[in-house]
Amino acid sequence: MKFGKFEIFSIVENSFKIDGGAMFGVVPKIIWEKLTPPDEKNRVRLDLNLLVIKTKSENILIDAGMGNALSEKQKKIYGIEKPSELKRRLAELDLTAEDVDLVILTHLHADHAGGVVKRDESGNKACRFPNARHIVQIKEWNDAMSPDERTTATYFTENLKLLEESNLLELVDGRNEVADGIRVINTGGHTPGHQAILVEDGDNKILCPGDIIPSASHLRMPYVASVDLFPRETMAQKRKFLDLCINDEWLLAFDHDINIKIGKLEKAGNEIKVSQVI
Ligand SMILES: [Zn+2]
Repeated sequence: MKFGKFEIFSIVENSFKIDGGAMFGVVPKIIWEKLTPPDEKNRVRLDLNLLVIKTKSENILIDAGMGNALSEKQKKIYGIEKPSELKRRLAELDLTAEDVDLVILTHLHADHAGGVVKRDESGNKACRFPNARHIVQIKEWNDAMSPDERTTATYFTENLKLLEESNLLELVDGRNEVADGIRVINTGGHTPGHQAILVEDGDNKILCPGDIIPSASHLRMPYVASVDLFPRETMAQKRKFLDLCINDEWLLAFDHDINIKIGKLEKAGNEIKVSQVI
């Protein structure tokens, strides 16, 4: 869609499944299963929604999905049933991976950054976006390079190192304008180095909160994934972001919702109502 001086598109890179309890944290299953019915293994389906932003001079991608460099075991764990659709979705926008100038990664978990690496025809791993600067918070990079027992399964550390070896990594610290009208802010919460992205041109404003508000089922305050390292920080950021969306009319891009990719929020009594923009 046309969005001020930008053109913005949402693409679904793939879908995966995650334990429903992990996704909804302290909320009991008897409540969350009504919002998102689980499969027979208690898993809920999530989409990997990426944003493509075309500016006058750059093609920008927010997050990169899971990619196609997963092992059979990893595919099974994540319930991945089909190959990455990135190539096809970019082609629908007249783009190839080589045309991408900037990749902004909310964080480096496998479902957001797995796609920065591809397997070529001979099975070797290579950077998928060879002409792009990849924007990552410095804290996130350090955590992904030295994961601990809790975080190690969520980062594909060896794959990520390819970005640094290929000189495609651009580390930022805190708040930065990474392109004209596009800012990143360090949120903490989900991971200490998690970042949100704000895209703004006059009255055209979209917030990408990443995994701080992954779906329209996560608008209520205690709905915080149990994988979040600092859930109270997630709640504090969520409060700020919801306020921005309701009172300052920012649109909200959900990174994992299977129906609403970009929504408009409004207050309806004690609840928040979302209407679908895309
Ligand atoms: Zn995620």
